[in-house]
Amino acid sequence: MPSYTAPTRDTRFIINEMLDLESYAELPGFEAASADVTDAVINEGGKFCAEVLAPINQSGDQEGCTRHEDGSVTAPKGFKEAFDQFREAGWGTLSQPEEFGGQGMPHVLGFAFEEFVSSANQAFGMYPGLTNGAVSALLAKGSQEQKEKYLPKMISNEWTGTMNLTEPHCGTDLGMIRTKAELQADGSYAITGTKIFISAGEHDMADNIIHLVLAKTPGAPDSTKGISLFVVPKFLVEEDGSIGERNGVVCGSIEHKMGIHGNATCVLNYDGAKGWLVGEENKGLAAMFIMMNAARLGVGIQGLSQAEVAYQNAVAYALDRRQGRALTGPAEPEQQADPIFVHPDVRRMLMDAKAFTEGMRALCLWGALQVDLSHKAATEEEREQADMLIGLLTPVIKGYGTDKGYEVATNMQQVFGGHGYIEEWGMSQFVRDARIAQIYEGTNGVQAMDLCGRKLAQKGGAAVQAFFKVVGEDIAEAKGDETLAPLAEAMEKALGQQQAATMWFMQNAMQNPNHLGAGAHHYMHIMGIVTLGWMWLRMAKVAQAALAAGTDDKAFYEAKLTTARYYMDRYLPDAGALRRKLETGSDSMMALGEDAFATAA
Ligand SMILES: Cc1cc2nc3c(=O)[nH]c(=O)nc-3n(C[C@H](O)[C@H](O)[C@H](O)COP(=O)(O)OP(=O)(O)OC[C@H]3O[C@@H](n4cnc5c(N)ncnc54)[C@H](O)[C@@H]3O)c2cc1C
Repeated sequence: MPSYTAPTRDTRFIINEMLDLESYAELPGFEAASADVTDAVINEGGKFCAEVLAPINQSGDQEGCTRHEDGSVTAPKGFKEAFDQFREAGWGTLSQPEEFGGQGMPHVLGFAFEEFVSSANQAFGMYPGLTNGAVSALLAKGSQEQKEKYLPKMISNEWTGTMNLTEPHCGTDLGMIRTKAELQADGSYAITGTKIFISAGEHDMADNIIHLVLAKTPGAPDSTKGISLFVVPKFLVEEDGSIGERNGVVCGSIEHKMGIHGNATCVLNYDGAKGWLVGEENKGLAAMFIMMNAARLGVGIQGLSQAEVAYQNAVAYALDRRQGRALTGPAEPEQQADPIFVHPDVRRMLMDAKAFTEGMRALCLWGALQVDLSHKAATEEEREQADMLIGLLTPVIKGYGTDKGYEVATNMQQVFGGHGYIEEWGMSQFVRDARIAQIYEGTNGVQAMDLCGRKLAQKGGAAVQAFFKVVGEDIAEAKGDETLAPLAEAMEKALGQQQAATMWFMQNAMQNPNHLGAGAHHYMHIMGIVTLGWMWLRMAKVAQAALAAGTDDKAFYEAKLTTARYYMDRYLPDAGALRRKLETGSDSMMALGEDAFATAA
């Protein structure tokens, strides 16, 4: 069976040293997050995930969820009990507002814990994860009455939440939604329609499920401008907060899918179910975007999480499995063969994984800090800057993070040779579970278009200019340090590639929008490569300072510097290759007609 240990040392390094969370102590919510509290949350959270959630990951994958004839669904063995423990320990309340029963801690801590949960058991983590997304939408757009009715029980995880966008004929293009919402005399709406692929849509782990559903009212524009958001509980909630009648929503079936078997992916049939409008009529997509942005960061973390757990198991295997000899001569001559860890090609895969996971962890936690700062920073200017940066980087965290997360998980499976392909080793599950993160919450192609078609141009390019400025400043500072200068120079070149690609879009995409569509995915990867490089530069700076100060933990900081160098050597050059591909435009890509794709008779 595969194993999992939460990477608490690295998480503490990023939070306490790289982000220096304590330096924000004067901001609301941060005062409670002293280094001691942070360390305790990380260590205890990591232990909970390793001891309670990881042991039911593989069994959950094998058993899957079961739908019964009455439409009820049972989660795999052990999930309900684990969720009881999760709820009792209050893990879901970490970064939620105190007003509704949360602990009001910075999102940085919530995100750190989310990584551990997802590495230990991604399918399980989606039940509280989707609840968090639904909570964000209600917090932002719900009425006071709705907030009081639903939020305390959702935040305590007595109830869970879902998001209902997708229908059989529409996924990306939500303007085509057909689910109807008709106003009733009592002010509620009757919701009728079919939603598919609804994660955590039905289960036995909580007393109620609060569905957030996109639907159209009669006469609304038949486009994204006519979508409204509704809250539709599985069980109606009485005035006193107790659970009432069963609402008209049932699970018609659950999907048989490639991975995340422990999470119930449901077809939900709404048959005149009672729902209530959240926010304004026809403004549902904007409300849902709040939920989706929170969820997209969560999905980026899933990319990291599967890469991390796969990496941990691949390292253990590479140290244990003996095949062949080191190219430089036997490393362990007394043995019949050396551990495969000695082979550069195996080391290439492990170093790629190490450089990605540590860099991506830094990016996710830095991103979480921007979410906090966008609400809580002292000045309007700082709040705007944080909001702009996290808005720009959300599609990168989701799209690049999950593309690379999947690639790393596959490479870690490769380290196992044929054994990686055999289910009992568990590597296949990591690959299968990682795969969905590239698809849901908007496919990665759609993330790339969000980045290039919307975010780059917003406010006359202010966000990307702000990004170039902060990265450029860190590069300039690092150039003044003898150890960091080579890293900074490599980063300067990579940033130049991104700037050139941005300029190419500016000069060519207006005249032919297909040029933008053809290069968007490459651009998202260029930006991912540069952003992780920036994180590595920042980590290297902290490591360098710790070594100069005579740290006791020399090996940890030296490894950071070496991995930073590896990242600059091995990841950054791809930015140039991708830029050159992007600059070929869309001509050869879009030139052939349908006939040319037809299979020859
Ligand atoms: C396991 C699982 C769980 C899910 N959970 C949920 C959930 O909880 N709630 C929910 O509402 N949905 C959920 N989904 C649905 C998921 O979000 C959609 O599958 C996804 O958004 C893509 O929609 P689609 O499948 O209809 O693909 P399509 O929209 O048909 O896309 C097909 C292909 O065309 C590309 N494409 C489409 N439009 C464009 C465009 N404009 N520009 C460029 N490329 C484009 C896409 O990138 C993709 O490669 C889940 C799906 C799965 C498989």
